Amino acid sequence: MDSADAVVIGAGVIGTSIAFRLAQQGREVIVVEQVGPGSGASGSCDKAIFLQSKRPGIHMELALASRRMYDSLGAELDADIELKGDGGMVVIESAEQLEFMKGFIGQQQSAGISVELLDAAQTRERQPCISHHVLGASHSPDDAEVNPLALNAAFYRAALRLGARFQTHTEVIAIDSQHGRITGLTTTRGQIAAPVVINAAGPQARHVGALAGVEVPVEPRRGTILISEALPHLVHGNVLCAQYIAAKHLASVNPENAPPFGIGLSLGQTDSGNLLIGGSRQFTGFDKPQGVEVMRAIAKHAVRLVPSLRDTQIIRSMTGFRPSTGDGLPIISTVPELTGYVVAAGHEGDGIALAPITGSLVAELLEAGQPRSAFLPALSIDRFSDTAVS
Ligand SMILES: Cc1cc2nc3c(=O)[nH]c(=O)nc-3n(C[C@H](O)[C@H](O)[C@H](O)COP(=O)(O)OP(=O)(O)OC[C@H]3O[C@@H](n4cnc5c(N)ncnc54)[C@H](O)[C@@H]3O)c2cc1C
Repeated sequence: MDSADAVVIGAGVIGTSIAFRLAQQGREVIVVEQVGPGSGASGSCDKAIFLQSKRPGIHMELALASRRMYDSLGAELDADIELKGDGGMVVIESAEQLEFMKGFIGQQQSAGISVELLDAAQTRERQPCISHHVLGASHSPDDAEVNPLALNAAFYRAALRLGARFQTHTEVIAIDSQHGRITGLTTTRGQIAAPVVINAAGPQARHVGALAGVEVPVEPRRGTILISEALPHLVHGNVLCAQYIAAKHLASVNPENAPPFGIGLSLGQTDSGNLLIGGSRQFTGFDKPQGVEVMRAIAKHAVRLVPSLRDTQIIRSMTGFRPSTGDGLPIISTVPELTGYVVAAGHEGDGIALAPITGSLVAELLEAGQPRSAFLPALSIDRFSDTAVS
């Protein structure tokens, strides 16, 4: 039987980030992945590392700490992850959105984010492709972007170099324990003995939790992105629309104004010139085929904000599942009832932004006697227990 100090389930950005940090600690790590690295949400997503979209408090502080780690990450992984600090913009279309964004920007500034409100002319000066009906935008130079596929591959290769082993095309089908302690797991290729098992199965974290009898409250939130032909440079940094921010943070968005299929603009351009035009946000289980009406609605919304897209060819689309916990924060936690079982999942639309810090937090969780990060209590799975005080 194979054995390791820790087995990570899932080789998305989260599982590979964890494998890298655990291997750095000198642990013997095996990663079990049912398809291949980046085959889940991490290979079907946008590339934004947005700070200005985060709620002030733990969410923002976590994103800031992870963003700082990005500055040295490429060198640490010895790879080009296409990190760019091109800033980000949230475009505002209506007086109602403007009022909401003024308040939101004020909160972000108080939380230490560098963000300013641009008027219509300043918005188009910075982003000439934006429609003339747009009233203004918030802009932050702190927002950044990274190539998620390059990031996933870089974590994977760096973990391999440090001795981590990967079993791809291998599904975890059972998690083994005795007397409340993890003893290993069973895969479609056999058994692995290990005292630690880490559930980094992203949107499938609930199912992988159930294999150990642990309730992991993560739901798949479907999102589709259209990908354009390669174009000359058009978009500076990443662009969101205020409707997306309002829908994310306002408890009482006027449902009449809510866009169909949860659509909010997310627009970015890759190094090769392709546009990533998103996106939808829907709870539809693991139903992958996406109706043409959703793609049409995404395209219509994008053309309203960036009229020149009307003549752009869409060459393909991709659909992924954001792993959602419902409160916007991931679970990075041990489990009281099962020693050795760790959950690192539920990053919803922020998994790329939070991948660097997640690996480090899990490594900290496993280091006995170390001072623990102040983030960990707020990310504990206990917050979902019936007795948790809100
Ligand atoms: C449309 C869209 C746009 C997004 N845009 C952004 C963005 O701009 N910025 C950002 O920060 N985030 C974004 N996200 C979110 C981000 O993609 C996710 O939060 C992140 O990729 C989650 O990573 P993960 O490793 O937890 O999950 P995944 O990448 O899904 O990895 C989990 C892995 O576990 C494997 N697995 C599952 N069950 C088993 C099993 N039983 N045995 C073995 N392996 C198993 C799966 O095959 C999968 O490879 C977006 C997501 C979507 C869908």
